Amino acid sequence: MDAPLYLRPRVEPPLAALLADGPFLHSLADGLGSPLNVLLPEAVATNAARFRAVYRRHRLTGRVYFAHKANRSSALLRRLAAEDPAAVGVDVASTEELRHALGCGFTGDRIMATGPKDAAFLWLAARVGATVNLDSPGELERLSALVRAHGLGRVAVLVRLSGFEHTTGNGGAGTRLLSRRSRFGTPVRDMEELLSALEHNADIVEFAGAAYHLDTTGVDEKARALEQCVLFMDECRARGLAPHTLDIGGGFGVGYVAEAEDWERWTTALTEAVLGVRPPMTWRGHGYGLRNEGGTVRGATALYPAYRPTAGPGYLDEILSLPAPVLGRPAATLLLEHLHDLYIEPGRSLVDQCGLSLARVLDVRPADTDAGHHLVHLAMNAGDMSLEEHGVLVDPVLVPRDETAATGDGEAVGVYLTGNLCLEGDLITRRLVFLPRLPQAGDLLAFANTAGYAMDFRAHHAQRQPVARTVAVERRGDTWRWCPDEDYWPITPMGGAVG
Ligand SMILES: *Cc1c(COP(=O)(O)O)cnc(C)c1O
Repeated sequence: MDAPLYLRPRVEPPLAALLADGPFLHSLADGLGSPLNVLLPEAVATNAARFRAVYRRHRLTGRVYFAHKANRSSALLRRLAAEDPAAVGVDVASTEELRHALGCGFTGDRIMATGPKDAAFLWLAARVGATVNLDSPGELERLSALVRAHGLGRVAVLVRLSGFEHTTGNGGAGTRLLSRRSRFGTPVRDMEELLSALEHNADIVEFAGAAYHLDTTGVDEKARALEQCVLFMDECRARGLAPHTLDIGGGFGVGYVAEAEDWERWTTALTEAVLGVRPPMTWRGHGYGLRNEGGTVRGATALYPAYRPTAGPGYLDEILSLPAPVLGRPAATLLLEHLHDLYIEPGRSLVDQCGLSLARVLDVRPADTDAGHHLVHLAMNAGDMSLEEHGVLVDPVLVPRDETAATGDGEAVGVYLTGNLCLEGDLITRRLVFLPRLPQAGDLLAFANTAGYAMDFRAHHAQRQPVARTVAVERRGDTWRWCPDEDYWPITPMGGAVG
């Protein structure tokens, strides 16, 4: 039997207490079925407060916009709607998300509309006074035409930039590098068309500022983009425009794995397994992007850096503190000097520690791997728990039905977690997962920290399997209260009449 390789999840107080309450989790799953999503609305408010603390530390003004696409929940949105309107808003990327935000209590002035937009989305955003984060010059034309045709009020717009260039080496003689390509936004070099369109339409759109969203963990790349936007806004001011807001998007990240050593051991072992110098530790030798070419490891892992020393608010602090490459002063200082408002659009990091996903163990049997591994068959499929889809790997927590059984002799076992679809590929993770003991039918596995993209982003009705219900929970004295996600309102008692 191989030495167990753990990827123990990072769990903090409210989520840790919830995970520790086996009887409560079992009673929820008994009543509501498996899979089941459990959310902690208070935790999203705590996260928003932590981001606000970073603003205060740098004396910055502006709003934190929750990127709604990370989770469909009403409870989370309503809890955020209850926060200070000047401090917390929501970023919506579809007409339905916009309708949902309005129905959860966000007024239009706290809403940012991003992504490519059709006419209905543009009309509703303009009608309710949302800020429109413009994706392209064409979108500006369509928005202006709509506002004119329907006699709508002046609309605040941000222009989303992409394709930032920078120069390495001294005196500009170095190589010109382009940041990662994006199919969103307008390349900096094509801004002229957009700016003149903004000037021509100044009576119907208010040019509020610049925006970007880079899907990367690279702090330097983000700091460079921030500075380029500040410089771009200087140019805009020089030609008589008056932008005052910089929106640096999301992507502040989450640390999923508690211990750096777990992550290092596991990734090292993956490389060794791909080379064939240790036994496979993934289903059918899956390499997560790595492959063995004549004794050399090639490729790059498609994995999220699951252990992160700095993430979320701490990562924002880092970006703001980093000296800007051209101007030399920290990003926060640049913003202060210019009196720019700072907008951010955190998704994943704002719902860090906000929930978990439960799956019932249906069946356990030996796997055909000759290594003493087992298959653990779950009442859940890969669509219900798509951490793996996002390259995030972390161990589930075993919540035994019979707690006394858990105290027996603890010998770790390696298992593969299979889903409830009749598809060979329906594995919750292709990783060999080590559990403290072999689970039994009726036990629960709890996947911690799934609120960001994992619990409902890819949920589907294939094979008519049930899609997870979602409940909101809150600690009251020494018991938990719960209500269906859609019945939660941020008032006392929790969920209004329910609870
Ligand atoms: C997805 C997205 C975000 C949120 O990204 P996270 O990595 O979840 O923080 C923010 N802004 C835009 C425009 C996005 O597309």
